[in-house]
Amino acid sequence: MTLRPWTGSGTDQGPVLGTRLADLDARISDAARSAGRDPSELTRIVVTKFHPAALIEDLASLGVRDVGESRQQEITAKRGELVDLDGVRWHFIGQIQTKKARAVRAAADVVHSVDRDRLADALHAADPGGAPLDVFLQVNLTDDPGRGGVAPTEVERLAEHVAAACASLRIRGVMAVAPLTDAPAAAFERLSAASDAVRRVVPDATWISAGMSGDFAEAIAAGATHLRIGTAITGPRPLHG
Ligand SMILES: *Cc1c(COP(=O)(O)O)cnc(C)c1O
Repeated sequence: MTLRPWTGSGTDQGPVLGTRLADLDARISDAARSAGRDPSELTRIVVTKFHPAALIEDLASLGVRDVGESRQQEITAKRGELVDLDGVRWHFIGQIQTKKARAVRAAADVVHSVDRDRLADALHAADPGGAPLDVFLQVNLTDDPGRGGVAPTEVERLAEHVAAACASLRIRGVMAVAPLTDAPAAAFERLSAASDAVRRVVPDATWISAGMSGDFAEAIAAGATHLRIGTAITGPRPLHG
């Protein structure tokens, strides 16, 4: 794939990016305080998918420490371009074909989208003796089995499998995308129940990855610890194909 240069770097887009980031962080803090939570408990991941690698450099220079990507070829290419960029944690948030597991493990520091035994096995087999990989178990909150994620009724069993068979994966919590058809608050309640189920297996798997540009306040109210925010910070994504 080709990565086009980020035309905003060093131009009038730079201040715009910083302003959007500061505005969003203020809204996150407000939402946390309204929910009686401490904003410092929250990790804000900036989703940079479809944008050029130079955007990540600009974000890093603004102090961003967590970025999110959703396609294997793209995260691999961007990490290759940014080998000298220190201090950024790369989160993989997209669906993963099992045959891409090795490449995802090589490129990601955290994987949010573990949703089946075979994928967990492949991520583990990619580096069984390596540094532990932090993972979330992705839960499907829709009725469409084609969407990413394990059914809520199956997440405890998946946690048991990963805990028993994938020693190089460290289950940190659960992840979901709210369905478009549902009120986000109701969906995030179901994710909270899935989190309880996973913690019956792995008591310290307390992370909850939920909340995007349009629903982060509801996610924070429902206990999210990791927010995945794209367009509210980056503006519209470039066209992709
Ligand atoms: C793209 C994406 C996001 C960010 O969405 P925005 O609406 O741009 O904030 C979050 N999570 C996942 C899984 C995504 O694919």
